[in-house]
Amino acid sequence: MERAAPPPATPPTLQQRCTAIDLLVLDVDGVLTAGGIVYADDGAELKTFHVRDGSGLKVWRQAGKRAALVTGRTSPVVGVRAAELGLEPVVQGAADKLTAYRDILTQTASRPEQVAYVGDDLPDLPVLLHCGLAVAVADACAEVRAAAHYVTRAGGGRGVVREVVELILRCQGAWQPVVERLREAGL
Ligand SMILES: [Mg+2]
Repeated sequence: MERAAPPPATPPTLQQRCTAIDLLVLDVDGVLTAGGIVYADDGAELKTFHVRDGSGLKVWRQAGKRAALVTGRTSPVVGVRAAELGLEPVVQGAADKLTAYRDILTQTASRPEQVAYVGDDLPDLPVLLHCGLAVAVADACAEVRAAAHYVTRAGGGRGVVREVVELILRCQGAWQPVVERLREAGL
């Protein structure tokens, strides 16, 4: 008797993708910032970060999760912000983000399905195609939005990371417990 063909594999739902996430990997320009780069007289780069992304990442770490940065540019302020928020690894000057991403997977002993990556532009595309939860910011380029499993309501630099942290932790049932702890003890 002929064996019935197995049913076609259905892609994971957004809920299932979120449930598996332990590591957040973030692009910087256009994600943690709105994309603007200000040059000081001495040539130093200045960037504007959103304070709610900072508190979102503190909640993320309180929930026992990790977050890393990967950026094609190199700027001391990125190192300062990463240290402030306890983000690591931080890869700056990444000519090829997929290679940098694979290094991060090795360093953190993570599997792709455990990783959410947030990007906004074409250099992010290869990584978005190799992670468990691909996230595009609201004002990402069309190709990045098309490749994403989730497009944020917020634009780059406007609390994107806070939105993604809440989305994932709510799916994992971990958002409310952290909020309750904060209500009692402060962050
Ligand atoms: Mg970018």
